[in-house]
Amino acid sequence: MISVVWLMHDLRTHDHAALDAAIKSGYPVVCVYAKTFTHKRFKKNTSRLKEAYLNQTLDALKKTLEPYQIPLIVHENDIISALLMLEETMKIHAVYTHEVASVFERKEILNVKQKYRLHTYEGTTLIKPSELPISLPLLPNSFTSFRKKIERLFIVAPLVDPVLKRQDVLPFKSTDLDLLDVPLIVEAGETAGLKRLKYYLDDTHAIKTYKETRNGMERFDDSTKFSFYISLGALSVRKIYHEIKAYEKRFGKNDSTYWVIFELLWREFFKYQEIKDPFKMVHPKGYLNKAIHWKQNEMQLEAFKNAKTGYPLIDANITELKTTGYISNRGRQNVASFFVKNLGLDWQIGEAFFEHHLLDYDVASNMGNWQYITGIGHDSMPFRYFDVCAQGDRYDKNHAYLLKWLPHLKKVNPKDRYHLPKLSNQMFEMLPESVKKETPIAIVDFYESLNDMKKRYGVPL
Ligand code: FAD
Repeated sequence: MISVVWLMHDLRTHDHAALDAAIKSGYPVVCVYAKTFTHKRFKKNTSRLKEAYLNQTLDALKKTLEPYQIPLIVHENDIISALLMLEETMKIHAVYTHEVASVFERKEILNVKQKYRLHTYEGTTLIKPSELPISLPLLPNSFTSFRKKIERLFIVAPLVDPVLKRQDVLPFKSTDLDLLDVPLIVEAGETAGLKRLKYYLDDTHAIKTYKETRNGMERFDDSTKFSFYISLGALSVRKIYHEIKAYEKRFGKNDSTYWVIFELLWREFFKYQEIKDPFKMVHPKGYLNKAIHWKQNEMQLEAFKNAKTGYPLIDANITELKTTGYISNRGRQNVASFFVKNLGLDWQIGEAFFEHHLLDYDVASNMGNWQYITGIGHDSMPFRYFDVCAQGDRYDKNHAYLLKWLPHLKKVNPKDRYHLPKLSNQMFEMLPESVKKETPIAIVDFYESLNDMKKRYGVPL
């Protein structure tokens, strides 16, 4: 008999209640990861970079488990077929996993529950749903009220690291993963995640200036980059929280150390929206049940996907996203705003585009933020939008970010670089030939497109 740890968004060994319980069961442990399950639309919605990142994270975990002879089996299909395959060789005592709220996973959890003894544990949020002092429906729907309720609560420390012992050899072999030879901007896996945490706190004290740098788009350390590790569960959020608290005790707290926790509470907010109502999280009309008459324009969509909108901030961000699998929070906000408020395209298409490319993709954080910016999530602003030209100058003051991704704009007068789409035809014609050749004509007029969308949203012009 074996105990199976069903891995999903928890590719680590620290603070892992399911692994802990499986080890304590006394039966030999096998870890299983079913690809099509955790990424329901895996093949379609996964770039090569993202697949490489996932495989490398799994491979790192496999290597951590190897000395203890705990096999990690990565199944290309769903979890039930993975378990049936194991059962051909050994009986399954029980399956251990972390509870996941999203609709894609819930169904599979139910399927497993019907066929096996399934033990689920809460482990993806700072506060466990069972620790909430109020019932779920009473949790506030606005971020600020939610934060005020949550941040006063005591957040339990992460579990002590499991005592991993070398177990007898099992008749299962860990899967050899294709690590895909593509350049990644981060090292994958739990050890790399813990290293990043230490780097951002004790090694560099970058956390002490986070609040001032977090909106930067160019320098890697402007923000924590913890999302790479949180999304696949290589780092536990509780671990991060308590490391920050311990850091504050050693080196003092300031607005910046608090602000990282503040941002983690945004994640918590979207996770709890999903826990409360997972179907609304993926619903086309969102939490507000608001119908918007979206435009359909294949040419503009293609231009967007190919970083050819003519809006330098958007084109730089899309180029970065496709090259690295990451863009900053500032970039994501601008891109999403442009997609729905200027192009007027269905937010779900933009969301899926992000899903395809983001290495740190997370259902609740992505859907929740897209809904928020679209204005169908819980946001009091009826028509939130970003001026994607002004935002460039504001958050990329010396244009280092812009010129990194669109170097041909070096030849343009700095005051015009981010504002090319607003230049008159006459001014545009006066740009150097090489710049004109590489700069697409703006695919929409900024203010006309905004006004058009305002009408569709039914807000005053
Ligand atoms: P930091 O600024 O260092 O923040 C620390 C941590 O706080 C992050 O790692 C993340 O866990 C959390 N966090 C910060 N901002 C947010 C936020 N707005 N919402 C939720 N959590 C937040 N984040 C994802 O992890 N996965 C996604 O798929 C995702 N999609 C997004 C889509 C859009 C349209 C927008 C506007 C934001 C999205 N975010 C997503 C949130 C945010 O942009 C990223 O978490 C952040 O940019 C990751 O970089 P970082 O770790 O350096 O963040």
